[in-house]
Amino acid sequence: MRYADIVLPLAQPTYTYAVPEGMTLREGDAVSVQFGLRKYYTGIVWRLHDERPDFKRIKEVECRLYDHPLVSERQRALWEWVASYYMCTLGEVMRSALPALMKPSADNRATLLEEAFQPRTERYYRLSEELRDEQRLSDEMDRLERRAPKQYAALLEVASAEMEEVPRRLIMSDSTILNALIKKGFLVCEEHCPAAEYGTPSFRLPLLSMHQMEALEALKKSFREGGHTALLQGITGSGKTEVYIYLIAEVLSRGGDVLLLVPEIALTAQLIERMERIFGARVTAYHSKLTPIRRAENFLRLSRSKGGEFVVGVRSSIFLPLNNLQLIIVDEEHDSSYKQAEPAPRYSARDTAVYMAYSMGCHTLLGSATPSLETWLNAETGRYGRAEMTERYGDAVLPKIYLSDSRRAAQRGERQGHFNKLLLDKIEAALGRNEQVMLFQNRRGFSPYLECPTCGWTPRCPHCNVTLTYHKGRNQLVCHYCGHTVQAMTQCPTCQVVDLMPMGFGTEKVEEQIAAIFPEARVARLDRDQVTSEQAFQAIIDDFSAHRTDILVGTQMITKGFDFSQVGVVGVLNADNLLLNPDFRASERAFQLLTQVAGRAGRRDRQGEVVIQTSDPTNPILQQVLNADFGAMARCQLAERRDFFYPPYARLTYLTLRHRDRPTVVRAASQLATSLRAKLGTQRVLGPIAPAIDRIRGEYLMQLMLKIEPRSSRARANELLQQALTALLEEKEYATLHVKIDVDPQ
Ligand code: ADP
Ligand code: ZN
Ligand code: ZN
Repeated sequence: MRYADIVLPLAQPTYTYAVPEGMTLREGDAVSVQFGLRKYYTGIVWRLHDERPDFKRIKEVECRLYDHPLVSERQRALWEWVASYYMCTLGEVMRSALPALMKPSADNRATLLEEAFQPRTERYYRLSEELRDEQRLSDEMDRLERRAPKQYAALLEVASAEMEEVPRRLIMSDSTILNALIKKGFLVCEEHCPAAEYGTPSFRLPLLSMHQMEALEALKKSFREGGHTALLQGITGSGKTEVYIYLIAEVLSRGGDVLLLVPEIALTAQLIERMERIFGARVTAYHSKLTPIRRAENFLRLSRSKGGEFVVGVRSSIFLPLNNLQLIIVDEEHDSSYKQAEPAPRYSARDTAVYMAYSMGCHTLLGSATPSLETWLNAETGRYGRAEMTERYGDAVLPKIYLSDSRRAAQRGERQGHFNKLLLDKIEAALGRNEQVMLFQNRRGFSPYLECPTCGWTPRCPHCNVTLTYHKGRNQLVCHYCGHTVQAMTQCPTCQVVDLMPMGFGTEKVEEQIAAIFPEARVARLDRDQVTSEQAFQAIIDDFSAHRTDILVGTQMITKGFDFSQVGVVGVLNADNLLLNPDFRASERAFQLLTQVAGRAGRRDRQGEVVIQTSDPTNPILQQVLNADFGAMARCQLAERRDFFYPPYARLTYLTLRHRDRPTVVRAASQLATSLRAKLGTQRVLGPIAPAIDRIRGEYLMQLMLKIEPRSSRARANELLQQALTALLEEKEYATLHVKIDVDPQ
């Protein structure tokens, strides 16, 4: 009898099933199995063997799901690495690695079937044979321009798009106009699957500037000479994307696959479109906004592809079955969204990409204007290759940055609401020149709340140790940790003062004030509370890029990757709360964020202006931002990290214990600390401490931190940690204790 160890999407290792007579299975096959009495799961065959397990009733595998293995050998090796490095089970890796539809249970078993994934088709337009002749095209265009301007515009769209065939969604003109052009024999329309057979590629690439060419050569050289990972450090607007494009084209031309990782897909619609204009139908987008069926279909299609695929996707795309993967590009590599916070696997897609480069022989390029210190140090010490671009493309120059002292402004009476006079003057001037303005308000740890003016009482979440955030528009109080929502009260429960005061301020307040100061300006706001749907998000972006709005107020969201050409002024309302954050990465993050925000200003003809409001203009980080001196920031921060033994000079693991009962969790934490100190040495274990927010959803939290030297074996440390945890969790009183392990926390 044959047996199969099968990975199921559960927080458990593998489960053993019997392989029925006559069923052929290979490792990596997806199968359907019964679990418990009624449930069915999709599982992945991990190991086939003849060792009968010693439990009585062994279930048989129901059926095999696809005619070829869903998870290749290379992918399986990757899953194994993620599970062991980030200390989770293969089942947890499976949950992140496979699209939802491929791991359903019970009821929707039908959707598992291969036939359910219909390859999607799209309409494509191209010039007809006769218009391929340049002369003929220009004659017809001339004629249309005079007689049928709309048809002229449509034809121009197709003719000038730098691609063979233009997908419908990239054409603005109406279908009736396009149909008229088809009738005239100028256009041909075909409907097909985007990833039909790729012909011999001929991409129309942008011409590179000198600096871009040099950077490209440096990267190619580093890869040629055996380097597996390289850093492209280029200031905002230097044209990193153009350099990527060349590297991508080269790999695709020789039939290799490319993966371009981007931080958050909603913000990168522009990037995807730019890539589609060059690489056309080869571009596969992979992100959470796709329908589940589309994701599954992309996964399945890629697993069968012979190469030449180009995926643009978020974090989880690192798990896509690209069989001939040769290049991974991680754009904005410093972005913390590459690390999955919840649930396990708490993996970093960037670090996984680096691991893949060196274990699987592909190349990984990390790109950023403000790389993480980990990456920067690796480039500095020669472990990674490196290329730099220190100038913006074309005539564009970096913006002029002003630090504006809020305290002084207040003393002099030069402050109105949350705005210093300097910023208001700059905004007024920009609006006068018909330029746009972006205002940035970081709200983490500084969100609006209600307070009693008499006793200082503040509404708090009943389940978590935090104040509730006040949403004026909805008149609600919301817990940002557990989602607990109540109608805003007007009265203090203790002293019964009516009219609680709104304190703190977020983007909503900024929007309200700026609209009052500049009543003629069209103001919009972009933040996570406001933008609940993809369409709403896109509408705000579209309005701003078409200059239908003048001022855009937002959080972190507005700092990433947008390319708006008419932004003259960027304002940062309060840099202080970025700098005061207790996290050891706070200074690095503040520098990155402020530099990215500043980078939104003045991308084309005129030099942009950035006003950063702060009560501490002498702060070294702000000075480094002012001088755009990444090197100074990096050296200064690295010196501190070395002194205090923090990454990149140490590798951290956070352990968070939680339990309904406070004494239990406190006892468990100190017991675990003692056993870890015995195994790992006293200096390597810190804590336990109660974290700043020590109660969430009614459970109490305690934290431990492990610090391990980079040179010592991570595998060994993980093994010792696992032993300590297993011993702890076997004790009866800790049966309902949860321990969260976060390796390399962000
Ligand atoms: P980065 O990603 O480094 O911030 P981008 O790649 O977005 O910079 O480039 C900034 C702007 O300059 C974009 O609008 C881009 O189209 C333009 N640009 C950069 N390099 C070139 C080039 N070689 N040819 C044409 N346009 C370019
Ligand atoms: Zn009160
Ligand atoms: Zn809560």
